[in-house]
Amino acid sequence: AAAFTETLVVKETVVVHEDLSESQEKANAAFVILTRNKDLKDLRETLIQLEDRLNRRYHYPYVFLNNEPFSDEFKAKIRNVVSGECEFGLIPTEHWSYPDFINQTRAAEARKDMAERKIIYGGNESYRHMCRYESGFFFRHPLMDKYKWYWRVEPGVKFACDIDYDPFLFMEKNDKKYGFTISIKEYIETIPSLWETTMNYMKENEAKIPEKNLMEFVTNKDGGYNLCHFWSNFEIGSLDFLRSDQYVSYFDYLDRAGGFFYERWGDAPVHSLGVAMFLNKNEVHWFEDIGYFHGPLWNCPKGKANDKCWCPEEESIEIKNKGWSCTLDFVDLPNP
Ligand code: GDP
Ligand code: MN
Repeated sequence: AAAFTETLVVKETVVVHEDLSESQEKANAAFVILTRNKDLKDLRETLIQLEDRLNRRYHYPYVFLNNEPFSDEFKAKIRNVVSGECEFGLIPTEHWSYPDFINQTRAAEARKDMAERKIIYGGNESYRHMCRYESGFFFRHPLMDKYKWYWRVEPGVKFACDIDYDPFLFMEKNDKKYGFTISIKEYIETIPSLWETTMNYMKENEAKIPEKNLMEFVTNKDGGYNLCHFWSNFEIGSLDFLRSDQYVSYFDYLDRAGGFFYERWGDAPVHSLGVAMFLNKNEVHWFEDIGYFHGPLWNCPKGKANDKCWCPEEESIEIKNKGWSCTLDFVDLPNP
């Protein structure tokens, strides 16, 4: 009898999740993951969490991208842990190499100099191709053509909270274009001329800039860059926005300026400045309720919302280190 009662009690606390893939409306969306064969173990850990916390109820598909072919082992072992369709894409060489207008000697000298100055990833060549790819090309990979929404995932990130609604549909129904979990300030040494280049772009392309935008989020009192950016290892966003003439013209302008190679411009500040220029606050959403970890930072729900999580709420970066985080400043901005 004791065992029976115990089972009943346990049953009461079990959350029963329906399979929502057939019964409910779905967005035209996919997870997109740029990764390497050697990331297999970390990526499986991440995907098992993402499936457990969300996707086992929705079965959204996955697109894996790589500058080298994925191994058969990688494909099989990924397919084993996910409930959505998987497609594995090779990145075309033109999207992961030097454009002809880049002086490769100057690029190599910049890497050497930044390595000596101990700037994070300063001497790393492939990291620069990665940042340029995530800034300007992943959304133009042919495997992404059929989708309207993407969710970027990286190997090794953690998902701590049960997500009991569809974040893609949330974006669509609320006219959101860009969603983030963590925002922080960038290392200035990686982007010394990004702000000036962006200002020049804006001056030369005034007609492309909407009156209501989010430039306040990235501008300091003196009119310079406050270094705030949305951390792009997590993004839920509109592919139509990234594929727009506006965003692509901004990326092309930056690419020509050479800072992906002569400096070490990250895709996070580039996406963020694009978002700030072209979108307004109502179109950008902080997923406060998504418990998310990318080393070394957490976004973790507070109070009642933490009940369905395993993350420590006091660790959430916007309360733990307000000075480095930009999220509460984002929240305080006026709506358009
Ligand atoms: P960090 O988050 O800035 O420290 O950079 P990561 O090392 O996490 O890289 C960012 C993303 O790009 C991750 O999804 C990586 O798996 C991926 N990535 C980085 N470098 C390469 C590369 O050379 N090839 C491929 N295919 N993916 C890469
Ligand atoms: Mn990462």
